[in-house]
Amino acid sequence: MAWRASGHTNAELVHNLKRLGLIESPVVEKAFLAVDRKYFVPVGRPASVSLSTPSTSGQQQQQQQQQHMEPSASATAQVREASAPQPPAANAPLSVFPGRQHEERDEFAQNDPYEDSPQYIGYYATISAPHIQAMCAELLRSHIGRPGARVLDVGSGTGYLTAIFAKLGEFTLQLSDATEDIAAPTPATTRALLPRVFGIDHVRPLVEASLQNIRLSNPELIDEQRVAFKADDGRLGWPEYAPFDAIHVGAAADVVPRALLEQLKPGGRMVIPIGPEGGDQKLVAIDRDETDPSKYIQKDITGVRYVPLCDLAYQWQGALNADTEEEEKL
Ligand code: SAH
Repeated sequence: MAWRASGHTNAELVHNLKRLGLIESPVVEKAFLAVDRKYFVPVGRPASVSLSTPSTSGQQQQQQQQQHMEPSASATAQVREASAPQPPAANAPLSVFPGRQHEERDEFAQNDPYEDSPQYIGYYATISAPHIQAMCAELLRSHIGRPGARVLDVGSGTGYLTAIFAKLGEFTLQLSDATEDIAAPTPATTRALLPRVFGIDHVRPLVEASLQNIRLSNPELIDEQRVAFKADDGRLGWPEYAPFDAIHVGAAADVVPRALLEQLKPGGRMVIPIGPEGGDQKLVAIDRDETDPSKYIQKDITGVRYVPLCDLAYQWQGALNADTEEEEKL
């Protein structure tokens, strides 16, 4: 169901999110204006299909990965439960991973980047609705805006929120003399204080697509190494860069993964949907106490419906089933 904030352009969508009180602060507004959703939800086809277009050569793609992703050993998705059938390795070619990559079929050509509803991105995953993303950005805003903040985006999918978080931190730091030119290079003095945002998704083609999306929408985030991605099980966090001032989780967990709690900085905040797949889920904010790091305070925000934070094998099976159901309908 489309929410009321839908627009015809990115600016109109942002205007509506603001009008409805979902975007409250100027920095969140600026970030949403600076990252156009059209690069993350291409009209008329699932985002994952963009990988098979010749816009980036295989060699270029490989170079990008080497520059901006972890070495291949740690970029290997870890499938913790070996349930049959097995998904391909995280670095397998795109074509062996299922997920409605049928450009020619009208029913899959309905994506509208400026509609306020979740949009299918392939691989049994969706980009969340803008009003939920605005809510998450507002909840994490002050933690992301700390000088030199480290931010973890688990289940980064299209990379949209990863980019939003990076811009949000930049605008918070520049609040006093914010430049009107959002594409202007960041001054070196500010650069050291900018947040670094780390995106993890266990679907490797989505990780590759997210790099391409950000290269098109906000290339400075990649050129200045302000975002980094890896294909891996996000429930394990990214220990090499912990602790994190802010952790965002984009898929629903039955229980909050212990590693993520441990990797949250004392005084940090995690925003995560909790609850069973297809069931009663709630978005919660978890604050880790600064003076007593063994203490976590959880606040319920709102009821939500997210895809599950799960094993890669499980998601792969879901994508296969979704494809089979669609085949049967035809
Ligand atoms: N925040 C993303 C939305 C992602 S949908 C966006 O707005 O674009 C949820 C994502 O979580 C999917 O891309 C899915 O592949 C990923 N995911 C699910 N379980 C995961 C796990 N255990 N580790 C890493 N990523 C996972």
